[in-house]
This record gives sequence, C-alpha cells and structure tokens, in this order.
Amino acid sequence: MIELVDTHVHFHFPDYDSDRDEVIHHAQEAGVRYFVNVGTNLETSEKSLELAKRRPEFFATAGVHPHDAKDASEDELKAIRKLIDEKRMVAIGEVGLDFFRNLSPEDIQIKIFERFLQMHVDTGKPLVIHCRDAYAKMAEVLKHFRQGAFQGVMHCFSSDKETMFRFLDLGFHISFAGPLTYKKNDVLREACRTCPKESLLLETDAPFLPPESFRGKRNESSYLVHTAEMAAKTRVVPLEELCEQTTRNAIRLFGLC
Ligand SMILES: [Zn+2]
Ligand SMILES: [Zn+2]
Repeated sequence: MIELVDTHVHFHFPDYDSDRDEVIHHAQEAGVRYFVNVGTNLETSEKSLELAKRRPEFFATAGVHPHDAKDASEDELKAIRKLIDEKRMVAIGEVGLDFFRNLSPEDIQIKIFERFLQMHVDTGKPLVIHCRDAYAKMAEVLKHFRQGAFQGVMHCFSSDKETMFRFLDLGFHISFAGPLTYKKNDVLREACRTCPKESLLLETDAPFLPPESFRGKRNESSYLVHTAEMAAKTRVVPLEELCEQTTRNAIRLFGLC
C-alpha cells in the first residue's frame, strides 16, 4: 500500500462543511497518511490549528496569503506570530507574491512577505511560499532579505526547470500539484523530471486545482495519487518509490510525527 503526505490542503474551508470527515476518510483510504493544512489569514490559520489539535494526522500552518496582504493589520501579524509558536504549527504560510490576480498592491505584498521572512528567521519554522507570475521578483526579494539558504517549499510550483533551479539553490523544496497532470503542461513535467529527488514534494492545494480527470470539480486529497502517478511516470520510477521518497521528504521538512 502506498503512503503519501498532502503537503498543502485547505480542509478547514467551507467547501468541506457538509462532508469533511468523509472526504478525509477517502483520502486515508487512498493512502494519504498526513495532511499539512494551510492557513491563509488569522481566521483560517486558527481554524487550521483547531483541526490539527483534534486530529493527529493533521498539521497546521499560519500566515497571510498575498491576496489578503492589504488587510493584514499589525494586530493580526502579532496574533499570527504567536500562533506559529504552537506545537502543531509546522510551517509559516502560505505567504508570498501573486502578481497574476494582484488582489493586494505589489508593494504591500512584498512588505507583508518580508515580515514573514523575519518570522522564519526568528522561529526556524519552514516557509510555505505561494508564488504566481512573480518568480523573478520573489527571487530578488529573497536574495535581498538574506544571504544564504532558506528552508521551505515553493508550493504548487508552476514555472520551468531553470526557474526551479534558482529556488532549489536558495534551499527550497519544490511541490507539484494537480497541474502536473494537465495535458499541455510539458514544461512543468520537465521541471518535475529534473528535480533532485530529496527536494520533491506533492500536494493537492484542495479544494483548488484538481488533476486532469477531475477538472471543474472540487479537489480532494484522495486525488493526490493521480499527481503522484504522473510524477512517477515523468521521472520513470515505480509509484511506490516516488511515494516513499516524497513522504520521507515531507516528514523531514515539516517534522511530522
Ligand atoms: Zn497558494
Ligand atoms: Zn493554498
């Protein structure tokens, strides 16, 4: 039986209010052993922590999504900083830059992101980075912030191999989600093929971004195996080996147990 870690999921979102336990059960039956449940602001980070305290297979993260950066008050940042010290909080995020939708002004996104980089330095907890249409700026902000390596993951990586290696060089893991299975995504598959095996992670980002055969539907953690199958096929390794490796990587990066 395969064993997986869904390293990025939003199970506390209202999308699952009617059938959360059932969806979690399906995922477990499909081989998902641990879930890193990701907060996007103070409210969802608190909810994520609640879930992680209730269920031992869940771990939480706390942060402010770049979409929400414009609403992040000093009080909210303080409260999140406190949350990060909680034992079941395994990472800081999701935080980052999103210049695709630009729901917050770019300069505010960068300012808030830098606050979380400082929390990363202060606490030593890994970063869960959201980056969309902003990879060049992201690399610039990280390099400007500090010389040397970071610890964390570029979640739902969505660029090419050259860009991927820039972030590997900065110390990041690379996480692939449902888009790896999309028919036209050869560029992403080439990145997945060449990613060093000890830096490779898998995620669903559920309820968003379902794999190819479920497009248009709500995503679920149980579909993670489809992304794992594509990653195994792309890298020409047995599925069991791919799952074992990515699970080991996730447990090590986030300290899951
Ligand atoms: Zn994201
Ligand atoms: Zn997310």
